[in-house]
Amino acid sequence: MTKLIIMDCDGTMYMQPDDKFTNLPFWHDIIDRSADVMRKVKPGIVDPRAEVNRIFTQYKGEVSEGFVAEGFCESKEEYFRKTWGRVNTKKYMIEGRLLPGTLDKLVEKDFGLAILSNAPRVWIDHALEELGVARYFWGRVWTGESTERKPTPASFLQVLNQLGIDANDAVMIGDDPTIDILPSNALGIKTIQVNPHNKESVATYSVRNINDIRRILC
Ligand SMILES: [Mg+2]
Repeated sequence: MTKLIIMDCDGTMYMQPDDKFTNLPFWHDIIDRSADVMRKVKPGIVDPRAEVNRIFTQYKGEVSEGFVAEGFCESKEEYFRKTWGRVNTKKYMIEGRLLPGTLDKLVEKDFGLAILSNAPRVWIDHALEELGVARYFWGRVWTGESTERKPTPASFLQVLNQLGIDANDAVMIGDDPTIDILPSNALGIKTIQVNPHNKESVATYSVRNINDIRRILC
């Protein structure tokens, strides 16, 4: 492998609504599942959704940490399994889906493929299964349980270093300017932004649909 493509998952391998993460229906589903977990441990809680939101704020978005610290789960993995793991990925992966044929073309062109996502592994596993593309990424998936998460430079460097690839032989494909594109640009990684709403982009290239990356890379 001489060239590497690193892909984000959510909003990249499938399209998400043009809204803040915390406004997305998918996130509300996670809040509901989290409230269910809470209610089972402490049935007396009056407004578990409000409590989940309190934990979200108090732990700076690290709900899994809050759930462990406050005794609702034994481990972060248990939290992810009982919440993210129980959300129906199919419901949210409707438009702009990455097609296996796109990855076949990239593999033909000798690109290595990896994933760098801040979402938990159980979610990524389900997403890849839903899209029918898991086999392209085996052993090359970096997920959000790590202490190094996007946008830290170290989160990108761990992928490059473990696969022995120079930054200028890598391409980062993502939808988020702040966590995918800007930090990659700063490291000298070429960037393609999946940009369905055609906003102004700071990436090397911008595409409306993930499958259009073939036109740039092949
Ligand atoms: Mg994304």
